[in-house]
Amino acid sequence: MAETLLKVQGLQAWYGESHILHGVGFEIGRGELVTLLGRNGAGKTTTLKSVMGIVEKRTGSVAFEGKETVGQPSDAIARLGLAYCPEERGIFSSLNVEENLLLPPMVRPGGMSLSEIYQLFPNLQERRRSQGTKLSGGEQQMLAIGRILRTGANLLLLDEPTEGLAPVIVQRIGEIIRQLKGRGFTILLVEQNFHFAAAVADRHYIMEDGHVVDIMTAGDVKQNIGKLQAYLGV
Ligand code: ATP
Repeated sequence: MAETLLKVQGLQAWYGESHILHGVGFEIGRGELVTLLGRNGAGKTTTLKSVMGIVEKRTGSVAFEGKETVGQPSDAIARLGLAYCPEERGIFSSLNVEENLLLPPMVRPGGMSLSEIYQLFPNLQERRRSQGTKLSGGEQQMLAIGRILRTGANLLLLDEPTEGLAPVIVQRIGEIIRQLKGRGFTILLVEQNFHFAAAVADRHYIMEDGHVVDIMTAGDVKQNIGKLQAYLGV
C-alpha cells in the first residue's frame, strides 16, 4: 500500500444514546480508492460522517496525514483536506449550478477553478444557469461532486454516488471517479451497487452492525463473489 493517508482505529460513534459504530478500523493509502460495503444500516454513512466530524459523539482514532481528528470540529477537519459528498447531494434548489459550485470556500490551495470543474463535467457548464431543481439526478450528482472539488480537499468521501441513477449515468460517474483517482485524489466510497464498487476500487472493507468484518482487494473479489453477495444480501 502507498503511504497511509487516513488511518481509522477503534472508531465508535453514537446518535444521542444510540450506539452505532463499535470499533471500526481501516486505512487508506494516498491515491487509493477504497470502498465501504455492507447492507442498509451497517454503519457506512455514519462512518463517513464520523470521519468528517459531522457525527460529533465519537471516540477512537481517525488520523489524517498522522494528525488526530477525533475531538476536532468538522470545519477544522475540512481544512486538513477532507471533503464529504452526502448521499442526499445537498444541492440548493433556489441556486443555479454555478452558484451551487461557488458555495464551498476553498479551504486549501489547489482547489479546482470553475473552468477545471467544467472541463471534467461539460454538461454542468451547459447547464450553469439552470436551477438546482431543474437538474436530472445524474447532473445533481455531478454537481455535488464538482462542488467538493473546489475546496482543495485531497481525500473525497463519496456517499452512494450512484444511488437512483440510470445505468448509463452510473457508468459516467464511474469514469469521473476513475479520472479523479488518475488526478491523484484519494477516495473513500460508500456503495450499495457492488458491481460498480468492484469495477472502480482497489480494496473493499465490508461492514456489518457497526464493525468492519472483512477486507477484500480488487483481486480477491472474483474468487469471493458468493461470500461478498452473502454479506450484501444480493
Ligand atoms: P444506508 O445505506 O441505509 O445508509 P448505512 O450502512 O450507511 O446504510 P447508516 O446510515 O450509517 O448505515 O446507519 C446505521 C444505523 O444508524 C442504522 O441503524 C440507522 O437507523 C441509524 N441512524 C442513522 N442515522 C441516524 C440518526 N440521525 N439518528 C439515529 N439513528 C440513526
